[in-house]
Amino acid sequence: MSAADQNANPQEGSPVPERSGVSHLEGIGEGVEFRCGYVALIGNPNVGKSTLLNTFLNRKISIVTPKPQTTRRKVVGLLSTDNYQVVFLDTPGIIKPKYLLQQAMMGAADSAAADADLVLFMMDATRMKGDLTVDLGGLLKRFQALHSPAYLIINKVDIIRKPDLLPMIAAASRMHPFKEIFPVSALKHEGTEQLLASIVKVLPVHPPFYPLDIVSEQSERFFIGEIIREKIFLYCQEEVPYSTEAAVTGFQEQEGGKTVITADIYVTRDSQRGILIGKQGAMLKQIGSAARRDIEAFLDRPVYLDLRVRTLEGWRDKKQSLENLGYKA
Ligand code: GDP
Ligand code: MG
Repeated sequence: MSAADQNANPQEGSPVPERSGVSHLEGIGEGVEFRCGYVALIGNPNVGKSTLLNTFLNRKISIVTPKPQTTRRKVVGLLSTDNYQVVFLDTPGIIKPKYLLQQAMMGAADSAAADADLVLFMMDATRMKGDLTVDLGGLLKRFQALHSPAYLIINKVDIIRKPDLLPMIAAASRMHPFKEIFPVSALKHEGTEQLLASIVKVLPVHPPFYPLDIVSEQSERFFIGEIIREKIFLYCQEEVPYSTEAAVTGFQEQEGGKTVITADIYVTRDSQRGILIGKQGAMLKQIGSAARRDIEAFLDRPVYLDLRVRTLEGWRDKKQSLENLGYKA
């Protein structure tokens, strides 16, 4: 994370910059064919897109939970070596939007796919046994106008019977001329190195878009908000996580090395405040200490985390609220 980002608008998450104005060329030798490009992770909810990004970066930057629709915004992860820089774009899973927030989420997925030099369509192997035309067909139809090459990634092969794999690959390749099809386990790191090697080969020859020593240009504040949301997804049930947003409001280094972070958790109605706070504050305490531990690991320093729960009536359906929270509504 670059230090310059720390004062950015907490929810803004800088846009993917223009391809001009490159100034990160130090250390890149003459005559070396440096490759750099955008790779979008696209798929239904819960197929393992964020897990794959974390596996590639060897670091947890995108939040992962067993619940669908955890990822709400485009998450940029940078994987750089002396020879290449892959700009991975993790995206929200494709759904039929029921409220304005979900529309904004689908916008993030669409724009990532449109920006990409390579699209990775990701499927969950455990869900591919039945009628492929439903899941995969829906995805392909939505993105049929894309010109960039596409790979099909069949994830979670660690939990299927190996003989089931070949028929899946055959059926999928009949549906679309994928440039490559890779069975992987993002969780168990199976097949992911071969996939990465293949990704790098199709990237354009181009200087890096970002400095080579950062893993994202999105701000620390953005990732801290994401960590808090992840804990809410883990500990709260039913509609509550889907009705919740977290926004860092303060970030202060104190003498003695502790960083004091204040954050607001927004819910859509008052009754959800009670659930999030819990009996004698027990739920909020649980969320807060789990989030604080992860934030400390993320920032690599001690943190004091102060969470407030506020009602922002119907925020998921209000254009202005969504924009204030940094969504493109
Ligand atoms: P996303 O919604 O597509 O970003 O999916 P996530 O990365 O959040 O993962 C959803 C769930 O699937 C989590 O519980 C992950 O631990 C699990 N998962 C992801 N990849 C794999 C895999 O390769 N194998 C298995 N068994 N589970 C996985
Ligand atoms: Mg995700």
